[in-house]
Parts: sequence; C-alpha cells; structure tokens
Amino acid sequence: MTTTILPHAGRAPRLRRRRRARPAPQWWRDVSGAAFIAVLGAVTALWAANGGIQELGSVAGFFTSTGRLTGLIASALLLVQVLLMARVPMIEGAWGQDELTRVHRVVGFTSFTLMLVHIALITVGYALSQHTEIVRTGIDLVLTYPGMLLAAAGTLALIMVVVTSFAKVRSRLRYENWHLLHLYAYLGVGLALPHQLWTGADFLFSPVATTFWWGLWGLAVAAVLAYRVALPLWRSWRHRLRVVDVRDEGGATSVTVAGRHLHELPVQAGQFFQWRLLDGPGWTRAHPFSLSAAPDGQTLRFTAAHVGDGSARLAEVAVGAPVLIEGPYGRMHVGERTRRKVLLMGAGIGIAPLRAILEGLDDVAGNVTVIHRTSGPGRTWLAGETAALAERRGARYLDLPGHRATTRHSWLPQQWEHVSDLHALRSLVPDVAEHDVFLCGAPGWMTAVETTLQQAGVPRRHVHAERFTT
Ligand SMILES: Cc1cc2nc3c(=O)[nH]c(=O)nc-3n(C[C@H](O)[C@H](O)[C@H](O)COP(=O)(O)OP(=O)(O)OC[C@H]3O[C@@H](n4cnc5c(N)ncnc54)[C@H](O)[C@@H]3O)c2cc1C
Repeated sequence: MTTTILPHAGRAPRLRRRRRARPAPQWWRDVSGAAFIAVLGAVTALWAANGGIQELGSVAGFFTSTGRLTGLIASALLLVQVLLMARVPMIEGAWGQDELTRVHRVVGFTSFTLMLVHIALITVGYALSQHTEIVRTGIDLVLTYPGMLLAAAGTLALIMVVVTSFAKVRSRLRYENWHLLHLYAYLGVGLALPHQLWTGADFLFSPVATTFWWGLWGLAVAAVLAYRVALPLWRSWRHRLRVVDVRDEGGATSVTVAGRHLHELPVQAGQFFQWRLLDGPGWTRAHPFSLSAAPDGQTLRFTAAHVGDGSARLAEVAVGAPVLIEGPYGRMHVGERTRRKVLLMGAGIGIAPLRAILEGLDDVAGNVTVIHRTSGPGRTWLAGETAALAERRGARYLDLPGHRATTRHSWLPQQWEHVSDLHALRSLVPDVAEHDVFLCGAPGWMTAVETTLQQAGVPRRHVHAERFTT
C-alpha cells in the first residue's frame, strides 16, 4: 500500500545545492582521547596538591586518601560518561556510534566500581581514625555529613542503572523501560554533586581546583543542553518535517518526510536520525532509523522492519504527521570512502543504509559491489529496488538468499556451508583487500563478516560498520 501527498511520483528533483556533512577530522579522536587522559591526570595532580600523598603515611590516612582519589576519579568518569552520551557532533563523528557505545559501557562500569571502592575505603578510613565500628561509621557518615543523604540516594540510582545494564537483566526488560531506568543515571550524577561541594575538600581547597571541577560540570551540562535538547529542537523547528509518503514493504515500512530548507541539513547517505512521529501515542519514544535513500535536499526516507510496537505502528502513520528529528548521527556514510573500490555488505534490514550509500556514492560504475544477504520470503526488504539501483548505476549486485548456516558460525546461507567464509568472500570479490567495506546487519552476522574481512587482509580502518543495537 502506498499513500502519498507528493505532487508527483518518485523523488523530488534536486533544486538547490545540498549541504554535505563533512566527516569529522580524525584528529578529533586524538584530541578527545588526550583530553580524557588529561582530565584523569589533572584529577590526580589536584589530589596530590591537596596533600593526598602525605596522608598515605598512616593506615587510616591511607584508606581515606585512596578513598578520596577513587571518588574523584569516579566523579570525573561520570562526567565523561555524560559528555560521551551528549552526542557532540565532533566526538560522535570521530569515534562513531558503535565505538562510543562500547567506551560508554567500559567507562560506566569502571566509574561505578571506583565509586563502590571509594565508599568502602572512606568508611574504613574514618572508622580507623575515629576508632569506631565500620557499620556505625557508615551510618554516621550518611546521616551527619552535609549532602551525604542525597549522595546515598544518587548511589542507589546508579546501582539500579548498572544492574539493569547487565545483559541478562536487560534482555528481560522492554527497551523503553530499560531506557527510562537508564536515564536515572543523570539523577544519580546530579545527586552526588552536593556532597562533593560541601564535604569534598579536594573540590574547594584552591581556586584552580574549584575552577577545574565547576568547569567540568559546566561543560557536561552545557553539552547535553546544547546537543541533546537545543540543536534537535532547532532543527525540527527550522525544517518543519512532515510525513509525505508511507509505503508498505511487507513486514517493513518506508516512510518519506519532506520539509523546509532540507538542503541545509548537513547529512550524508548512510547516516541515521532519532525519529519521533507526532501522530498519536508512542511519540514520546524516539527510534533510531537509518536513511534508506540518499538525501536529495528535499526529502528524507527511512525503512523500518516491524520488530515491536514502535516500528509496527509506522504502517499506520498518517500522511501529514509532524516529525521531530535528532541527528544526523553515525559514521558509516559516503564521506568515509577512501578507496576507489567499494563493497557494500548488508543483511536483512541492514541493507537500508547501504542502499542509501549506493545511491549517494560518486564514481560507482565498475567500482562498487553489493552483497545482499536475505533470509527468505517476507524478509527481502528493499531487494528489488537495490538490485534495480545497482543496475542503473553500473554496480554489481550479488544476492545471497537462504536460511543461516547451522553447522558453524558463518555469514553465509546454508547452501554455502561446504565453502569456508574466506574462500566464499574471495570467490565473490577476488580483490576484496583493495576495497572500502560498508557493513550492516544483525550483530552476529556482522561479527562473522568482520572476522572474514580481517582474514582476507582488509585493514580495520577500511571497514565501516553500523550496528542496529545500543
Ligand atoms: C544506529 C541505529 C540505526 C538503526 N536503523 C534501523 C533501520 O534503518 N531500520 C530498522 O528497521 N531498524 C533500525 N534500527 C533498529 C531500530 O531502531 C529498532 O528495531 C526499533 O527502534 C525497534 O523499536 P520497536 O518499538 O519496534 O521494538 P521494541 O520491541 O521496543 O524493541 C526491539 C529491540 O529494538 C531495540 N530498540 C528499541 N527501541 C530502541 C531505541 N529507541 N533505540 C535503540 N534501540 C532500540 C532494542 O534492542 C530492543 O530490544 C537501528 C538501530 C540503531 C541503533
């Protein structure tokens, strides 16, 4: 079923020169990595300048001083966490969504562990110095020191966030419930602040320390407000997006939106947005969907497989519904191409951003190969149009249909089980090592492809991947 209010079939003609997103320079990666190390170095230096090392001399002093240091590093890492998730375009562009998510997990668990160590060390240190029992000291610390009750509440919020992030617990929760709980991390960070300011001598012992800590807090809050609130609201208001076409893809829906000044949106084929369709219940939840057509300055299109409530309801979305966007995000896009030869490998709905890339790439004829893994009838989304587009543009389109292999972990279908993954890849694309590879599909499938690409000699920097998971 196709419903449309576009005046003509197909995509609108290109009228104005479109603004392209420039890839974030790689030095942003080095700068942000160096800034991270500098923050940890500054925290340690401030702790030392405030007598941290001298205090290590006595047993009680050793506990309180290392407790202070772990608390300070945990606080700094929490703020780094907030910055990592603030979707600062330069950081997002340089690291990519996949890697940021991995770093977010590592930094989060490290910060949480250090926070628990901080609580234990400080309590033991105070108990030793005051010759009191540990449990009694812990209760006294919470009840008598300023800001400590709030900090205890903040700790509970963070414990809940961490516990619900373990894969086993997370898989039992609906995504929206998990995400809502995850937002309590902001509350946890906010509640920890007062005890740091009121009782934390390391925050206030010198103007340099005060400026450093307030500066870090200010930066984290400003980044969230600017990039997660103000910029999306501004873009949504500026472009006034509305749904103009809803197309049934059989178990998936393609939604096209149009708006004002879309040629000014710095977006590249292959990127994704967080979409909110304001047409009824469910609009409060944004969903990430990649563009499935190259942006042409007039319209944006995404294609969503029906996997749950949010994606299934797209089939019913009303033409004319207003749309809010957050983005564009993602590093897997046409601007990342560094080689003449390009291999696009997609499985299932993972073909969506690759179809957009195929449409958005220059110099396609004779240089681009598409490997499309489809798992059977009803799941061949965008296959027909991707094949037709490949033919029009002079690209090679190789369809690999069939159920997944059962005898080994492989990206190939069952019919290919007698051939090794590496042999299959080399027979499909003999000079694969000379290609830039763009990759998108289910996480397990992608891991199998990444292993084969590595064996085939494709350097990691030439593999551009987007995972549809957070
Ligand atoms: C960067 C990125 C790009 C994506 N692009 C596409 C695309 O082009 N086409 C497509 O079909 N799918 C895409 N997805 C997956 C898509 O976002 C989810 O399938 C969709 O949000 C599911 O929502 P639901 O309510 O239908 O299902 P639910 O039953 O609520 O969720 C099913 C699973 O989808 C994931 N999910 C749900 N909501 C979100 C969310 N708000 N943010 C992140 N993950 C979520 C969770 O892993 C969840 O377990 C993409 C995901 C990411 C992270």
